[in-house]
Amino acid sequence: MNNQGLRTKNLLILLAFILTFLCLAGTSCGGATEESAEKPDSVFQFSTYGAVEAGLYEGVMAVADLGGHGDFGIGTFDNLDGEMVALDGTIYQVKTDGVPRVPDGDTTSPFAEVTFYETDKSFPVSKIENAESLGNAIDKNIPTKNLIVAIRIPGQFEYIKTRSIPAQNKPYPPLAEAVKSQATFEYTDIKGTIIGFRYPAYMAGINLAGYHFHFISEDSSCGGHLLDCRFKSAKVNIDECMGLELELPDTKGFFNADLGGE
Ligand code: ZN
Repeated sequence: MNNQGLRTKNLLILLAFILTFLCLAGTSCGGATEESAEKPDSVFQFSTYGAVEAGLYEGVMAVADLGGHGDFGIGTFDNLDGEMVALDGTIYQVKTDGVPRVPDGDTTSPFAEVTFYETDKSFPVSKIENAESLGNAIDKNIPTKNLIVAIRIPGQFEYIKTRSIPAQNKPYPPLAEAVKSQATFEYTDIKGTIIGFRYPAYMAGINLAGYHFHFISEDSSCGGHLLDCRFKSAKVNIDECMGLELELPDTKGFFNADLGGE
């Protein structure tokens, strides 16, 4: 064991001692409490969807920092350069070749939403004809429409259609304009995971109200923003998120953007 290893070991012993002391002092040591103290059961979001729609694509938050706020989520990158898929602690960037790659930690994001994912509830859905029917099927099974819900659907999918938007140049066009140059990909009989969130309607502007999904194949060879899907059946796993931590860009662009018609 090298010096670094010894220091780490000593630190772990110290941490164990502190935790034991806290337990003796009467602090609840239930698994859930301990877990939630380390990993808040909330969503961390950088910037707003309204800002992205307005064309604020300048990357601000480093991917390495984003990873400290969650191990699961979606987003995009500096200059709107591709789709972000975060799954099991790995953040992938899917550019317009459709291939997920792990970006450098100092790669920045203008918009992302992540959480430390833990399944609260699972339910089957079947005969899913398209992305809309997937949303409708989930709507019927979620306990409330008033919380943000993180959604994780592993499965074998008959049909998946994804897209990725190419990097944009300044002055940035609004999102409605930028998507016109998107690359789309279609896959059949593909194994992978649909991941995303459902935001309540009352949060429109802060995020996309309703469902926003991305996809990554099991072998990490393809992915992107989910445009459409079709499958016979799958198990939907959800994490009901009890809060939202919103961090906003400290940039001139964000300060001066007209985001609420004020
Ligand atoms: Zn997306």
